Amino acid sequence: MTIAAQPADLREADMPAFVEEARRALAEHMPVLSDVAADLHAHPEIRFTEFHAAQRLTAELERAGFDVQRGYAGLETAFVGRWSTPDATAQTTTIAVFLEYDALEGIGHACGHNIIAAAGLGAALAVKDRLTAEGGARANLVVVGSPGEEGAAGKVPMIEHGVLEGVDLAMMIHPGAEDVAGSTSLSRVALDVEFTGRASHAAAHPERGINALDAATLALSAIGLLRQQLPDDSRVHAIVTDGGQAPNIIPEHAALRVFVRSQDRDELLGSIVPRVRACFEGAAIATGCQVLVEERTPAYFSLRPNPTLVGLAEQALVALGREPVRAPEMAGSTDMGNVSLVVPAIHPMLTLVPDCSPHTCEFADAAGGDAAAAVIEHGAALLAATALAAFRDDTIVAEAKATFAG
Ligand SMILES: [Zn+2]
Ligand SMILES: [Zn+2]
Repeated sequence: MTIAAQPADLREADMPAFVEEARRALAEHMPVLSDVAADLHAHPEIRFTEFHAAQRLTAELERAGFDVQRGYAGLETAFVGRWSTPDATAQTTTIAVFLEYDALEGIGHACGHNIIAAAGLGAALAVKDRLTAEGGARANLVVVGSPGEEGAAGKVPMIEHGVLEGVDLAMMIHPGAEDVAGSTSLSRVALDVEFTGRASHAAAHPERGINALDAATLALSAIGLLRQQLPDDSRVHAIVTDGGQAPNIIPEHAALRVFVRSQDRDELLGSIVPRVRACFEGAAIATGCQVLVEERTPAYFSLRPNPTLVGLAEQALVALGREPVRAPEMAGSTDMGNVSLVVPAIHPMLTLVPDCSPHTCEFADAAGGDAAAAVIEHGAALLAATALAAFRDDTIVAEAKATFAG
């Protein structure tokens, strides 16, 4: 595939203009976008229960003229909105903008997915407005409403069901603690572990019991020691989801939920997860318990940011007056990583409040506060400008695909 001569130079000149164009188109939508973000923030819904959010977002898309499919891949709160220019065909560039809108258990929108939804919606509206107004460029725009990002990898069944078929590029933004064009993430496997022993009166007949909580305690201690021998970018963290019923009963059941992460997917699956599993088996043997280990959610894979799209996103961030960092802090995991292994994709982070970590009450407050509007507007402008650039210049898609394949 041929790449136009010096396309990067041309785009460097174009991106600030595209950002400005997107911001002008966004201006009339900002009141609605801020209201959408506030509405979702006021109605936090955890994985696969995002009925209010899905209803609001699909209503906004339909109002704007998108063809909306409610429910996808058996997920009631998933949706797909489509809009194309009149002369678009199956060969026309197709860009998917991902929306997330689930909250975290107990602490609401502490990952700011209400902002992701509003920014993605804004990008779609701005792109549609601009391409409708100017004519010329052909486009297929897909808005993917992907539920259950927190802990359930909702994008995985959507990918398996074909949501990325015909899609050339995929994108979303995420609020965070710093500005990053090419954010990365860790692959992650979730393990649900159940130890089964035998109950007994803890004072009268402790010798007759088999203590499942002892097995869980030993397993956590073994993992604590194992961490010394794991690669630096590995993370193993756990909670006790069942620690017994009462102090005077030897616990018959104990359960852990454990996340195992690493940058290197192959090392995670081939080496680290088996070693963590061995900690559970060893603890079971030592205590005489039975152990059952299950993976109840699909694995998250590390983001593979596309260099071509990252370059455009970086220019957009600079045009927005932000200072993107090249060596971001260690990140968590996202199912957008799974998307990025199928098609060229980006997942830029935009600072909500400097040094304020997602998954905290402070971040949840900020996601519903005054700081949200700037991230919605900048995030939507970044995505819209990148999409406009790619719809207008086929060499961008060609180059993104070439760097994806390489
Ligand atoms: Zn999160
Ligand atoms: Zn998130």
